[in-house]
Amino acid sequence: MEAVIDIKVIKTEKSKLPGTSLENLPFGKVFTDHMLEVEYKDGQWQQPVIKPFGPISMLPTNATLHYGQTIFEGIKAYRTVSGEPYIFRPFDNFHRFNISAARMMMPEIPEELFIEGMRKLVEVDLDWIPNKPDHSLYIRPFMFATDEAIGVRPSSTYSFYILLSPTGPYYSKPCRIYVEEKYTRAAPGGIGFAKSGGNYASSLLAFAEAQAKGFDQVLWTDAFEHKYVQEMGTMNVFFIIGNTAITPNLEGSILEGVTRSTVITLLQEQGLKVEERPLHIDEIIAAHKAGTLKEAFGTGTAATITPIKELNYKGYEMLLDTDKWTISPEVKRRLDAIREGREADVHQWMFPVKG
Ligand SMILES: *Cc1c(COP(=O)(O)O)cnc(C)c1O
Repeated sequence: MEAVIDIKVIKTEKSKLPGTSLENLPFGKVFTDHMLEVEYKDGQWQQPVIKPFGPISMLPTNATLHYGQTIFEGIKAYRTVSGEPYIFRPFDNFHRFNISAARMMMPEIPEELFIEGMRKLVEVDLDWIPNKPDHSLYIRPFMFATDEAIGVRPSSTYSFYILLSPTGPYYSKPCRIYVEEKYTRAAPGGIGFAKSGGNYASSLLAFAEAQAKGFDQVLWTDAFEHKYVQEMGTMNVFFIIGNTAITPNLEGSILEGVTRSTVITLLQEQGLKVEERPLHIDEIIAAHKAGTLKEAFGTGTAATITPIKELNYKGYEMLLDTDKWTISPEVKRRLDAIREGREADVHQWMFPVKG
């Protein structure tokens, strides 16, 4: 039998929880009492430690600050209606984390360290999981290079952390989307499929310009023609045309969302045909003109399903009446029901926090 991973736990002397309201928390601003920290050196992961959340120290020569060798994940823990804590599909995030690591020439994380480290940390800060509908505990694993020398090369040392942040309620308001044609998010051969910092830094300018024009988000298009739709900021995208749900296929420039995979399964269970294939903007426009474009939405861990009420392509406005939709609201309803333990978890998406 494999040895159970040894995690050292140093508890905080004074919990911040009594002074923190877990209601109406903005995303990503409040963190729990503890964090997990592990260093990688001499070709090995060292002893993982759960310790009080706090500053970390580094020299200004830290390689990540200069060359961006860094990756992350986003996962959620919830309580079911009976109060039991679960983490949603952590193994899928674990696999994606190592796919990102390999692309960025970073060491892979052993499954036990990632999963048991996360489970144990959530267990230590269990009382931080909000017990309210639409609230959750956001889990942020990340890894970055820690060599202290300037020069472009893969680092030989790394740090891996897991942070926890209570959040919610997260209402996904219908959004207005600008189809981006000037800037490119990712190209084949690049790092679009990796959850790596640079992908987000390079997208900020496009978001800012779209927001200045009154839009909430951009819909990225392919790097060559700017005609094939790809995904949104931190969301994959689905279009329902007739009785078929279409989402762009994964060809290396798109992040393989865990929510995307969940939604594909749920749509199929609801009797829809799901196609993963290249989707040209002209096909969306033609469907809109013909009245067969029924629904359009983004999928991601933060907001689960975000309806698109307007799509703007070169000034051509496609408006969608989200009040009339039935398919994606049903997907959202079922996803919430599974997470809250009101519908059977037949796919074993829910991972129990209590061992
Ligand atoms: C994280 C992310 C998604 C959504 O992935 P989920 O696993 O569903 O949260 C989609 N696109 C990008 C670019 C992302 O960073």
